Amino acid sequence: MKPFTVRLRFHGDLNVFLGSKAHDAEIELRLAEKTSIKDVIESCGVPHPEVDLILVDEQRVGFDHTLANDAKIQVFPVVNHGTAHTYKRLQTTGIIRFVTDGHLGGLTRNLRLLGFDLAYDRNADDRQLLEVMTRENRALLTRDRRLLMHAIVQHGYCPRSQNPDEQTIEIVRRFDLLELIAPFTRCLRCNALLEETAKAEIIDKLEPLTKIYYNQFRRCPGCKQIYWSGSHFPKLQKRIEEIRSRVRGKA
Ligand SMILES: [Zn+2]
Repeated sequence: MKPFTVRLRFHGDLNVFLGSKAHDAEIELRLAEKTSIKDVIESCGVPHPEVDLILVDEQRVGFDHTLANDAKIQVFPVVNHGTAHTYKRLQTTGIIRFVTDGHLGGLTRNLRLLGFDLAYDRNADDRQLLEVMTRENRALLTRDRRLLMHAIVQHGYCPRSQNPDEQTIEIVRRFDLLELIAPFTRCLRCNALLEETAKAEIIDKLEPLTKIYYNQFRRCPGCKQIYWSGSHFPKLQKRIEEIRSRVRGKA
């Protein structure tokens, strides 16, 4: 078939994925055969789970759209404004179950602190991450964009920042989680939901001062870790409030 030219324009922060081929978030490609829009977008470095809206010559299309002629393509990221979108999206929000790769331990802890369900194994390889993602219907969080491009990934996100607190804010925004935050409900170490426990049941495991000053405790049914509103508690609360207000700030 006759070769044709497609011009892609990437909006929002999708330009972080573009390589040196891009000029001002625009890429021009010459194609010699029919190609799916998904493959064309990913060939520019942008993983499909990051793409929320695609326009080909002003027409909205899905990932299965095939390109065969010259076209102008616009690609938009997920942007949440706290209200319903007026267009049909390719991605979903409100996902509260995630699997994180081994480099995202800090983010994992933060999201568990906010009550979200995080599968995390520091030593998991790519195959294991994809397996957990599929089997447990989780969104994949990784800075490995190649992994996010895997065909079986439905929901996922590449944290832009390397800083766990910034990453946490990104995730809460991307998946629209602000109203779903339930702090201090989940074990930071093993992800299990915490249970209220009577002081009498655990008193022999407490330090002398903790025994005296605290009366309310939660215990992890998984790893048996005991939680209480100790001296670290105001600091954690402050951190959660900071995350909330920063997410609101941009909304
Ligand atoms: Zn635990």
